[in-house]
Amino acid sequence: MISLAKTDAEKDALRKLLGYIANRTLTGTQAWTCFSSPKPEHLFNKKKLSLTFTKDEIDAFKSIKKKCVGKLELKHSRACAYCRRAVGRYGFGWHIEHVYPKASFPAQTFSLGNLTIGCVDCNLWKAARVDKWTLAQGIRIIEPIADGFRYGDHLNLVHLATEDICFVKYNPTSNPGTETYEKLQFADIERSTIIDSVNGELAALHRRMNDILADAQGDDSKTELVALLGKLKSSIYRLG
Ligand SMILES: [Zn+2]
Repeated sequence: MISLAKTDAEKDALRKLLGYIANRTLTGTQAWTCFSSPKPEHLFNKKKLSLTFTKDEIDAFKSIKKKCVGKLELKHSRACAYCRRAVGRYGFGWHIEHVYPKASFPAQTFSLGNLTIGCVDCNLWKAARVDKWTLAQGIRIIEPIADGFRYGDHLNLVHLATEDICFVKYNPTSNPGTETYEKLQFADIERSTIIDSVNGELAALHRRMNDILADAQGDDSKTELVALLGKLKSSIYRLG
C-alpha cells in the first residue's frame, strides 16, 4: 500500500503504522483501525495504550484509503470477491477485505496484494467462520487474490432477473468452492435474493439492516451488534 502514498507525509504516516506492527506495539487489527478510522487519539489494550496522530497523518490515512478504495473498485468491477454481488452506491455495503486476516497475518495488513472487496454478508461470515482458523488450517475457501484465480473454477453462478422476480444460484465445483458456499452462508444469499424481489417491505428492512451492518463492521466495539444482526438476517430468511 506504500505504493499508493505519493507524498512524503503519506509515506511517513503509513511507515509509522508499519513500525508499530513490526515492533509489536500494535496488532494488525489495531493498526488497521488507526488507518481506516483515523482520529487524533486511539486507545487500546483497555485504555493502557494511547497513540496520537497529527492532522497531517490523519489526512494522509484518508487520502491513501481513498486511493485504495478506488483501485479495488476498479480492479474488482465493484463486486464482492466472494459472492460476486454488486457493491457500492447502487449495491451492497462493502469493506476492504483482508484475504489473509490481519489478526493472524499482521505483516499483510497493508499489503495491497492481500486486499479485495468483501460485501457486508461475506465479511460477516468470513470473520466469524474462516479467519479464526486460517493460521492453523490455511485458507480453505476460495482465494480471490491467488495467481491465476478464476471464479468459475470454483463456483458457477446463475443470476436471473425478470420484471417480477430475481433469482440467484451458486453451484460449487471445487472443494474451496464448497467451503465458500457453506462457510459464507451462500444459501442465505439465494433465499434473500428471491424473497426480497417479491417482498418490497422485507427488501427495505434488509437494506436498512445491511446499512447498519456496514457501519458497525468497521467498529471493534460493535462486534456483538454485528453478530446479532447476522443471526437475525439468517433467521428471517429461513422463516421466509
Ligand atoms: Zn459477498
